[in-house]
Amino acid sequence: MRKKIAAGNWKMNTILDEGLKLASEVVHMAKDKSLSETTIIMSVPYTHIESVKKTIGNATNVFIAAQNCHQELSGAYTGEISAAMLQNLGVDCVVLGHSERREYYKETYAGVKAKTQIVLKHQMTPIFCCGEKLATREENAHFNLVKEQLSSSLFELDAVEFAKVIIAYEPVWAIGTGVTASDEQAQEMHHFIRDTIAKNYSDSIAKQIPILYGGSVKPANAQTLFSCPDVDGGLIGGASMDAQGFIDIAKSF
Ligand code: PEP
Repeated sequence: MRKKIAAGNWKMNTILDEGLKLASEVVHMAKDKSLSETTIIMSVPYTHIESVKKTIGNATNVFIAAQNCHQELSGAYTGEISAAMLQNLGVDCVVLGHSERREYYKETYAGVKAKTQIVLKHQMTPIFCCGEKLATREENAHFNLVKEQLSSSLFELDAVEFAKVIIAYEPVWAIGTGVTASDEQAQEMHHFIRDTIAKNYSDSIAKQIPILYGGSVKPANAQTLFSCPDVDGGLIGGASMDAQGFIDIAKSF
């Protein structure tokens, strides 16, 4: 059975005190017995990693993610953070290829591919984001685009490495807009992604890869989205900034 995952993406929000308050509330609420089989991830700003990691302590169902990393091992890249630095702090996962990074920082397929490889090399789990803009969906080119995103950045991984990746389908038109993909739209794309993986790797790998949905997930819509057969949870932005709301989403499986 695939893992059930609720991953919060804090983006560039909270100063440290606020972040630690949020993290400790999440860790406390995640002790609820009903969540023992749910993987809860907090993707926090770099400045919070060390302290949030301590807050998580020995909780077995709460993990920490970074929101990006550089693709080179080390060197003259002022202002950047390497995979080794994140690994050294005990980071479990790294969000890669988020649409905000593709849009504002012009991240390319090749760049996201290099980042995915270096994150895996440092024993962390990439949370690989893909998804189309509204115009692409309106042109009915969304399946091709998502396939291109996957194949350009992931499909050169060997099967062992690929099997460690978490995929997040995040239609750009649903991120931070309050507009959620319908259950049918989410299921249709998740099924397509799984099918594409099966064709490039194998049925058994396709069946084991978690595919999260992201885009205005809220406590009110999480249950129907998460009940779709190919939706294994969510990557949650805005609603992860409230511990109770985030935990309610995590309880929506
Ligand atoms: C995100 O940041 O990946 C996201 C899905 O944001 P929101 O939940 O706010 O739409």
